[in-house]
Amino acid sequence: MKHDVAVVGAGVIGLMSAWSLARAGLSVVVVERAGAGQESSWAGGGIVSPLYPWRYGPAVSALAHWSQDFYPQLAAELIDAVGLDPEVHVTGLYWLDLDDQPQALHWAQQQQKPYSEVPIADVYAKVPALGPGYRKALYLQGVANVRNPRLVKALKVALLALPNVSLRENTEVTGFIQKEGRIAGIEAVGGDILADRVVLAAGAWSGELLKLLGHELPVEPVKGQMILYKCTDDFLSSMVLAKGRYAIPRRDGHILIGSTLEHAGFDKTPTAVALKSLGESAAELLPALADAQPMGHWAGLRPGSPEGIPFIGEVPGHAGLWLNCGHYRNGLVLAPASCRLLCDLLLQQPPIIDPAPYSPGGRLLPGELR
Ligand SMILES: Cc1cc2nc3c(=O)[nH]c(=O)nc-3n(C[C@H](O)[C@H](O)[C@H](O)COP(=O)(O)OP(=O)(O)OC[C@H]3O[C@@H](n4cnc5c(N)ncnc54)[C@H](O)[C@@H]3O)c2cc1C
Repeated sequence: MKHDVAVVGAGVIGLMSAWSLARAGLSVVVVERAGAGQESSWAGGGIVSPLYPWRYGPAVSALAHWSQDFYPQLAAELIDAVGLDPEVHVTGLYWLDLDDQPQALHWAQQQQKPYSEVPIADVYAKVPALGPGYRKALYLQGVANVRNPRLVKALKVALLALPNVSLRENTEVTGFIQKEGRIAGIEAVGGDILADRVVLAAGAWSGELLKLLGHELPVEPVKGQMILYKCTDDFLSSMVLAKGRYAIPRRDGHILIGSTLEHAGFDKTPTAVALKSLGESAAELLPALADAQPMGHWAGLRPGSPEGIPFIGEVPGHAGLWLNCGHYRNGLVLAPASCRLLCDLLLQQPPIIDPAPYSPGGRLLPGELR
């Protein structure tokens, strides 16, 4: 059987790409080495904003703005389709003691984002659990977090409900099939899978696969560790962030504390050093957590890319091979726009935003065929 599209990887990017393409009428097979949504897309914090958005360029901002506006609709569509709520939780976010607060405010004014400086006394009144000693705060009104493990689960169930989608879990992709100058499918454990087009959405592992075709894709794993606490559901009403560490409240009182940034190859073993450091950050941000035992500790591999700009588009010299990867620290927030843009380009529809900054053309380094 030949599919219109084979998607490699069932993280948030692969699942959402498949959902967009299948709802446009294409037959889609999603091929995943392990289980759907168990890697970075499960491990992330789910803040529906880039961290320090003013430190990114316009390419990341364009995808982020489109996605942020779309997230409530995405949640409604998933609830409607399969009755699963990805829990988009609008809490706002306090950035505490920022060194570059003037730059953040300038950026927010240009981008028409509702950031405001707030007196620190007001922050302590709104967030009584906050630790002492903070001097200033910037408030980002309206920003949400999404319960990403539920998001990927809802996407998987939504895909399985469509007649034109198949999901092949526990199936590693090992290569690409080429025929008459085009990509014509993928080689996978268990047999070849034929498809008119292939979308590579393998997160941090995308570069390893593209090397097989002689391209150097500058996407590399960046390890991130997080810890989880369970509190009462009114313990923390907003996200808070200081010194690069954040606390994210879920609707039911779970609090995530993240995250580390480590270059450790493809090793994603949680470490005692990170556990201690994250615990100290938790206690500093929210002193009531000082004596609490985290109920979870894990690591994930972000697909790091230059300037955090994802690769979205067809690979030059390999007609039929499309990329949607390299979302680095922001794949959950950028997913809706990235997947819609991929779908627009692949179907030759007018794109939602200018695709030029994400085009693989000119951004892949020539590499050795292996
Ligand atoms: C600690 C941490 C905190 C984060 N916080 C946030 C946040 O608050 N907000 C935000 O927007 N983003 C956040 N991120 C980033 C976000 O999680 C990622 O950018 C995003 O999940 C990437 O999605 P993906 O689908 O590209 O990759 P993944 O979710 O990693 O999916 C890739 C999939 O490809 C599969 N695969 C790989 N190789 C093969 C193969 N050969 N054959 C078949 N399948 C294969 C993998 O098994 C995996 O399932 C965070 C990440 C981490 C680690």
